[in-house]
Amino acid sequence: MMTFDVIVAGTGPAGLMTAERTAKYGLKTLVLEKRQSVTNSLMGELVTDKALNFLRVRPDSEYIGNKFSSIVGESLDTGSKIVVDRTLLGNSYLFDEDKCQELMRDRALSDGAEFRYNSRVKSVVKENDSVVGVKYNQAEEERASLTVGADGSFSRVSETAGFIHPKWLLSYGYRFKLTNCKGIDPSTAYFYVGEDVGLGYLWLYPRSETETNLGIGRVPSSKSKWQALPPMKEVLKKYMKTHPETKDAKIAAVNGGVVPCAGIIPRFTDAGVALCGNSAGQVSSIVGGGVTTCFHAGQVLARHAKRMVDSNDFSKHSVRLYEKEYRKSKLASNITNTGKGMWAVSKYAMFNDPIEAAEIVLGQLDAKTLNELIQGHASVGTFMTLMTDFLPMVAKIGVGYLRAIAVSGL
Ligand SMILES: Cc1cc2nc3c(=O)[nH]c(=O)nc-3n(C[C@H](O)[C@H](O)[C@H](O)COP(=O)(O)OP(=O)(O)OC[C@H]3O[C@@H](n4cnc5c(N)ncnc54)[C@H](O)[C@@H]3O)c2cc1C
Repeated sequence: MMTFDVIVAGTGPAGLMTAERTAKYGLKTLVLEKRQSVTNSLMGELVTDKALNFLRVRPDSEYIGNKFSSIVGESLDTGSKIVVDRTLLGNSYLFDEDKCQELMRDRALSDGAEFRYNSRVKSVVKENDSVVGVKYNQAEEERASLTVGADGSFSRVSETAGFIHPKWLLSYGYRFKLTNCKGIDPSTAYFYVGEDVGLGYLWLYPRSETETNLGIGRVPSSKSKWQALPPMKEVLKKYMKTHPETKDAKIAAVNGGVVPCAGIIPRFTDAGVALCGNSAGQVSSIVGGGVTTCFHAGQVLARHAKRMVDSNDFSKHSVRLYEKEYRKSKLASNITNTGKGMWAVSKYAMFNDPIEAAEIVLGQLDAKTLNELIQGHASVGTFMTLMTDFLPMVAKIGVGYLRAIAVSGL
């Protein structure tokens, strides 16, 4: 008899949603988190209606910090831009991350889940080829029928359970909370590209006319190109200096994180163990959007955990049904599409200037096509148009992709 039905390692959006749901299904759930609380972290903040639906919160509730009516893609170097308004994108919102995290934690607690903080998972415990729990901190151990690795991009559960990440392309990011700004338009979010940013973008998500979140996320395409980039703090300072709205701003908080962006890993389930969220590569890579995809994966996983507990079957085959259902979803296929795109773009950037390509995109691509590509559901018609309008660039990206396949397989 196991002590717990489910152990969830990590309280990011994936772990919290999984725990909220497993507790709701009446499963005896233990959550282990290495930090001191669920808050003060980078959960991810820019989301669409989908995330609100998964979380079951209303757009006018306290969980939403701001709402955007348009999103602008702009070059820091030349000023060329594309405006994607809500007719194309739908609504976009800025989560109040702490409140959302507390909401999920409190829902899980009220349904009986146990949370242990300052609890760093070291490894999974295996018996007869099946994971039966975890070791954490110095020598503590807990056992469960199902262990969930929601412990982020450098997941200990994933590593010690033996999952492999052949295309582990990571995006490194920092998010700064700025106060004391002036005259910011709170209805518009910005994504900036530029030489100083490298392969990635700088984003500005205003919270009000005087407060904004500013982040920088970059993917290294090669060591030398990565080393040649200015440090993120310098990029931030330069942006603040050259934009009157943020000239006198103060940095009130800083958070950092790492997001996988080459798509879902080849296997993320095994006997007694399943991964969820960043640990499984369940992130929409081009925009680094992980909150919605984590909520979705957590809910699918929790439903399967309930089935496994009901049937008392935690075999490889039984856990894999979560993976099978997840992979068939539209969100998973968008992740796979954008992951291939990002992989190709990173290879392209090894041998070409990605900013030159970004300038072409900003100068010539229409907002509808850009939106389809970012979301990972471009139609065949869109691809045909791209092929003809941007042939030299598409050809280079295609060659990059073929090189990527040659190096590491599909
Ligand atoms: C700078 C930045 C900005 C982003 N902005 C957005 C955005 O606007 N919208 C969006 O949708 N996505 C965004 N993302 C992506 C999103 O934040 C991630 O995809 C998402 O947080 C992944 O959730 P997760 O639960 O899988 O992992 P994480 O959020 O990484 O959570 C993992 C948790 O596990 C804990 N943990 C780690 N190791 C252990 C261990 N050994 N033992 C116990 N606990 C452990 C960590 O402390 C953490 O609490 C952003 C990412 C970054 C880096």
